[in-house]
Amino acid sequence: MNKHILIVGGGYVGLYTALRLQRRLRRELRDNEVRITIIDPQSYMTYQPFLPEAAAGNLSPRHMVAPLRRVLPQVSVLNGTVTEVDHEERAVTFQPAEGEPRRIAYDVIVMAAGSISRTLPIPGLTDIGIGFKTVGEAIALRNRVLHLLDVAESTDDPEVRRRALTFVVVGAGFAGVEALAELEDMAKHSTRYYRNIKPADIRWVLVEATNRVLPEVGPEMGAWTLEQLRERGIEVKLDTRLESCEDGHVVLSDGTKFEAETLVWTAGVKPSPVVGGGGLPLDERGRVKTTTKLTVAGVTDAFAAGDAAGVPDVTNPGQYCAPNAQHAVRQAKVLADNLVRHLRGEELVDYRHKYVGSVAGLGLHQGVANVYGVKLRGFPAWFMHRTYHLSRVPTLNRKVRVVVDWTLALFFKRETISLGEMEHPRDGFRAAVATTRR
Ligand SMILES: Cc1cc2nc3c(=O)[nH]c(=O)nc-3n(C[C@H](O)[C@H](O)[C@H](O)COP(=O)(O)OP(=O)(O)OC[C@H]3O[C@@H](n4cnc5c(N)ncnc54)[C@H](O)[C@@H]3O)c2cc1C
Repeated sequence: MNKHILIVGGGYVGLYTALRLQRRLRRELRDNEVRITIIDPQSYMTYQPFLPEAAAGNLSPRHMVAPLRRVLPQVSVLNGTVTEVDHEERAVTFQPAEGEPRRIAYDVIVMAAGSISRTLPIPGLTDIGIGFKTVGEAIALRNRVLHLLDVAESTDDPEVRRRALTFVVVGAGFAGVEALAELEDMAKHSTRYYRNIKPADIRWVLVEATNRVLPEVGPEMGAWTLEQLRERGIEVKLDTRLESCEDGHVVLSDGTKFEAETLVWTAGVKPSPVVGGGGLPLDERGRVKTTTKLTVAGVTDAFAAGDAAGVPDVTNPGQYCAPNAQHAVRQAKVLADNLVRHLRGEELVDYRHKYVGSVAGLGLHQGVANVYGVKLRGFPAWFMHRTYHLSRVPTLNRKVRVVVDWTLALFFKRETISLGEMEHPRDGFRAAVATTRR
């Protein structure tokens, strides 16, 4: 047979598909009848639901990622991006991390390139906005919040202080609410080490264009979350849009204007740009047009799932599966099994999963959950959030490391150090060079 399976993207769908193929095609891989390649700019899969905990310092960033080469010993891992898919020719253009692009031929492709932040042409957004989808963004944000506390403590200019202590998050879905809640909790905790900053001095503003927060946990728990956030002193502005944020001067559609040093943008996602390259058919929302069997509609030898794919929800006719990890993990399993069936000439099965609800962490010992209709809030929801995600994070190695991080956090106070200098490691050396006389 000697088939080459190419997986574009090593996130949820990519990693879980490859793990299952590696297991189910063990003999074929050993006999060189099948080759599997996975392409991703990073050499690890990011467990995104842990990003808020990593930003808050409850988890080491290294423990929330799964190293692709280690967990996929039977799979070739290439680091770089796929810039173009030519499915008629069964080849992609691969841009490696260094050097010239090259064509890579395949027999079967799995499009698992996920999504990127969906932005709008808002003045100033590209200058001060930061997303919340990667480890780099989460850790940079953590460093930034802590650094700005240092700035506020050290300045004698009230304007600089006010601006440093004002944080804006746009978008009240999973990513926005969890990121804000965890960072606010961390910042509040950190104020005990500052002489001149009290929790009430820090301003957190959550801006949401619709009239609800955290739709993933349903209207009742969403309303409870809103109440909780407001009780914590967070300004939640519903039915409000960000109009501009040039030089940190934030203007909202309700007429509010203020200065802020930090603006986090989490207002939705759109498919990774490689999806729009024309190689595979798209649906009306720009995602890969996918069948209920997780094949790409209208072509052969192509599969897709996750945030990059428009997968019809057979449990909810006329609707698509939402872009979340719950679907991505389960789709990967069905996708891998269907791919094996495809190679063996067997009939494929439908992807069928009814959304069971969600859990969200809102800071240490605080959470909200609505799973299988069971609604929890506060500590029980937080505990469920942690237990659920611990069961889901890939590999035993990572699970143990996560438990160790959490256990240490029970006995020691949380780390509140900003290591922002890591983003500019050569500054000190450059300054030293500048002092050298010829
Ligand atoms: C902060 C945050 C919290 C979340 N919390 C939850 C939660 O609690 N529950 C839940 O169900 N969902 C949650 N989600 C959503 C969930 O993480 C995503 O739905 C899931 O990651 C989608 O999986 P995926 O494989 O489609 O994409 P991803 O996991 O994003 O993987 C896509 C991969 O493709 C790679 N890639 C992109 N373009 C290319 C290219 N051109 N070439 C090669 N590789 C490429 C990317 O580098 C990435 O590794 C959260 C998301 C975020 C950001």
